[in-house]
Amino acid sequence: MSKLDDPLIQESIEELKQYIALPSVSAKHQSINETAEFLKKLLTDFGADATIWNDYKHPVVFAEAKPEKPSKTTILIYNHYDVQPEEPIELWNSDPFELKITDDKFIGRGASDCKSDLISRITALKIYRQKHGDLPCNIKFLVEGEEEVASEHLVDYLKKYGDKLANDLIIWESGSKNEHEQFSITGGNKGILCFELSALSADIDLHSSLAAVVDSATWRLTKAIDALRDTDGTIKVPGFYDDVVEPSEREKELVAKTIEPDLTKKWGLKVPLLKNESVNYNLTFKPTVNIEGIISGWEGEGVKTFTPKAAVAKLEFRLVPNQDPKDIFDKLTKHLESQGFSDVSVKYLLGERGYRWDLDSPIVNTLIQTAKDFYGGEDAVEALPSSPGTGPMYVVNKYAQAPIVSIGVSYAKGGAHAPNENIRIKDYLDFIDFFDEFLAKINKE
Ligand SMILES: [Zn+2]
Repeated sequence: MSKLDDPLIQESIEELKQYIALPSVSAKHQSINETAEFLKKLLTDFGADATIWNDYKHPVVFAEAKPEKPSKTTILIYNHYDVQPEEPIELWNSDPFELKITDDKFIGRGASDCKSDLISRITALKIYRQKHGDLPCNIKFLVEGEEEVASEHLVDYLKKYGDKLANDLIIWESGSKNEHEQFSITGGNKGILCFELSALSADIDLHSSLAAVVDSATWRLTKAIDALRDTDGTIKVPGFYDDVVEPSEREKELVAKTIEPDLTKKWGLKVPLLKNESVNYNLTFKPTVNIEGIISGWEGEGVKTFTPKAAVAKLEFRLVPNQDPKDIFDKLTKHLESQGFSDVSVKYLLGERGYRWDLDSPIVNTLIQTAKDFYGGEDAVEALPSSPGTGPMYVVNKYAQAPIVSIGVSYAKGGAHAPNENIRIKDYLDFIDFFDEFLAKINKE
């Protein structure tokens, strides 16, 4: 019998089909309540005590399941039910909100980020229960609905309900095999500060002959941006690095064991890499500043000889643990003023703090060892103290008071946030078996 014929796997795929069919795009506030209701029912059917917290904009689904034989261990499963917009729709080869099953893939919006993850975890728990007659430990689920729009209200929910989250380990939303086909386990993510800079140089656009005497908004803005960073990537805002937590020896060791990617080959880079200890070191530990976009002046055909009166840019800092976005924003504002850019206004868009840890605890060592045994040895697994991306780990850790690891069913070409988002069916089935083995080991501890 193929694994796919197993009734619990069949049920799993059916649930995934229904979940993906809900177009829960948070940016459009689409199908949000309906999806929360769907999850409440799904988790109730699984046997958990499920509720919907609906105090703020996007509801959060919380559920708890207890084994018949009391356990001292609690695992919290964090996921989000919202997805990114499906656009550009013309680049999809199938309906984004209809699970397409090919010989080897599941395709659909949320397949990789992160609807399959939640369903695979529930399926592993069901299989465990079928085999052992009981759940391995206490399981809690926290499924939010605005992760893709910076989890704006999650902190409000956690302030109100944080005392319900107590647990020993948080299994974070998703994860993937990396480009070397190693199963990736990560223990953190970077923080972020998104901001806008805008310059206004006159009441009206001017004839460009006046560039002899007047600076344009475009010059002012680009000079201000230039004052933020050296060409090697070092950020020039005074005090920016003050609170940065240096990596511990163990964290550095974890990164040193990873395989360095050849980015120049991978992306056909036309620019040299920024100064780095190693690519993976920078990705894991270094804060950055990035220009997301600049808008100013003439972008039409031909020429237009004028000096633009206005220029706007969106930028972001990726932050590391202990850097506070509000404090960095203050330092940024002061720096621009001190450099003579008080005409450039700075607007705070959003901020989240970073979280990182060295993956050193008995339960996580068990998880790492189980992954190595399951996926094929020492080199089959990559363990990193942080991913280069951003998510609400800091705030969840603060209220849930437990370490976090991110693992999941995706792979390097999963196309999260992109058209034809997909996972490989084999990874999905393997993850269910792996998670099931991990659950069997916690129970023995
Ligand atoms: Zn996600």
